Amino acid sequence: MAQAVNPNETPSQQIQEVSKSQLIPSEDRKAVQVDENVEICKGHLLEIGKAIQAYQKEHGDFPEWLSELYPKYLPDENSLLCPADEHSGKPYFFINTDPKMPVSYDYQFHPRYRDAKTEERLVYGDVLPLVRCRHHTNQMFECLNLSFAFKIYWSSGVYKPDEMYETTEEAIEALEKGLQREIDNQQFFHVYRTLVHLYIEVGREKDAEHLINRFKSIIKPDDLSAHFILGTMLGMANQYEEVLKVFENLEKRQPNNPRVFDELVRIHERLGNTERAKEYRQKADPMSGLIGKVVPNLSATDLDGKPISLQDYRGKVVLLDFWGVWCGFCIVEMPNLKRVYATYKDQGFDIIGVSLDDEASALRDYIKENDIQWRQICSGERWEDDPLAQQYNITGVPSQWLIDRAGKLITHKARGEKLEELVVEALKDKPADQ
Ligand SMILES: [Zn+2]
Repeated sequence: MAQAVNPNETPSQQIQEVSKSQLIPSEDRKAVQVDENVEICKGHLLEIGKAIQAYQKEHGDFPEWLSELYPKYLPDENSLLCPADEHSGKPYFFINTDPKMPVSYDYQFHPRYRDAKTEERLVYGDVLPLVRCRHHTNQMFECLNLSFAFKIYWSSGVYKPDEMYETTEEAIEALEKGLQREIDNQQFFHVYRTLVHLYIEVGREKDAEHLINRFKSIIKPDDLSAHFILGTMLGMANQYEEVLKVFENLEKRQPNNPRVFDELVRIHERLGNTERAKEYRQKADPMSGLIGKVVPNLSATDLDGKPISLQDYRGKVVLLDFWGVWCGFCIVEMPNLKRVYATYKDQGFDIIGVSLDDEASALRDYIKENDIQWRQICSGERWEDDPLAQQYNITGVPSQWLIDRAGKLITHKARGEKLEELVVEALKDKPADQ
């Protein structure tokens, strides 16, 4: 395991090794500062760990909050402050804020978390984080942790066995025990997936198969997320025909679920069933059937009262943009549209806005303020009643249909960075009359 720590080293040595060999590019001054901060923070976590142990000896339990350690068990209140905490005493998550004094650390066993953590601890064991510092987040790690076993390790935010346990075998042993205790607890279904992954990693295929079968026997027939976990596990075991059966059965129970269709697309692609994949792609997204076909003509009146039709744009690459001033996503997308329009309008690119605003005046104000130069159509109705939204089966905005020079639909999801790439590609096809 690439990131396992050496059990023969003290926590101090482990952290130093991580920070010097992997974490810090040597010339980067900020990084050096992070390095020093990590060392100090690690010292604080060790102090906190000792104080918690002393507290436990006397009370037979963990403190409710870290502030209870001060001053009796933790004489220096600065031990509760991480040097990388720019607010001098705020944890990363608001919910973990200590009620009595400034504390930089995310204590994982306070009253709101205690029940859930107790349960998690039964599954993962004492490697689970008890105190976390999230103030040093960088590309290498997100959290510096003090575990329930009072060991320090760094990790990403989520529980990953290769970060928490020292060897794969140790991880397997701990998770097997944990699952025995919580065998049909839905909250820990993802542990099945983790364990199957670990079994396969060390070549224990039989154990993986056994666990997958046990999982099959406990999940409820309509539990969608459990079936996704089952599908992932069968995929790990290269049993794609089985994955197919799982989702075909699920489709019978949930005949109109787009997530199930999406999954069936992926499985059929994986199995090389191109036609079946296409069929499910169409079911998952009914509009996809129009791709590559000529978009039916529209004829309407634009905002200036002039007739407008798609036919007029033949020979150009056109974006038919269904949007609304009231739609946040549409407004976020607007600078991108303006930029692509300005860059490519002289090469044969154009946009037709179909606004689903119920007040044309709001639209007029917006396009004036934002200097939007392409033509707009606005019936004054939202999509339930807008004739073009009806004609093109628009159920949400923004909906951005990119149409090639021959009038055929390229995609109805031409948004974000993809828009410019697709426009550039489409403009390469020169119009027939040139
Ligand atoms: Zn820290």
